[in-house]
Amino acid sequence: MLLILLLGVVLMNQPRPRKSAYLVLDPGHGGRDPGAVDPNSGTRESDLNLAQALTLKEYLVALGYTVGFTRTTDVFVPLAERTRMAQAQGARVFVSVHHDTPTAPGPGVYYSAHPLSRSLAERIAAVLRGAWVRPSSASRFGRLYIDDFPGPAVLVEFGPTRPVSREERIARAQAVASPIASYVQEVVV
Ligand SMILES: [Zn+2]
Repeated sequence: MLLILLLGVVLMNQPRPRKSAYLVLDPGHGGRDPGAVDPNSGTRESDLNLAQALTLKEYLVALGYTVGFTRTTDVFVPLAERTRMAQAQGARVFVSVHHDTPTAPGPGVYYSAHPLSRSLAERIAAVLRGAWVRPSSASRFGRLYIDDFPGPAVLVEFGPTRPVSREERIARAQAVASPIASYVQEVVV
């Protein structure tokens, strides 16, 4: 009896795992909307986004997280539909995966109006060399669809739209998976 009580106390004092917190990756554009297109190589942002998100998923799953998607193939998904899909899946965190215009100088991260979004953006930007961090209100649209998500939401511009090697994609996924994971552990209960 005492042993069972002691065991109960020990188990109760363990930090509770929060890995069940569900996050949704949102590969931007797709289908009839290619996003940015590199005129030199013909590289389409929509393809880069999907490949980057699928690679990122591998690392998050390896860390024990459950990951959902707004698209896993080259299909068109309306913006309003994306945050709705994430909510319907029970997502706690929304991470949109994009690439910038071909002439963009480097990566960057937008954060939504939700009060916990900025810290996620800063953690992600810290592992992407030279990345900026901006509120969605600073985008050229004045707001971004990530603002429609009721929880923490960020939109990552992984870099300019141009050919991205497999090694580069893996390196980015590996780098970004850790801050997302630690954020979910520490911030999202
Ligand atoms: Zn985009």
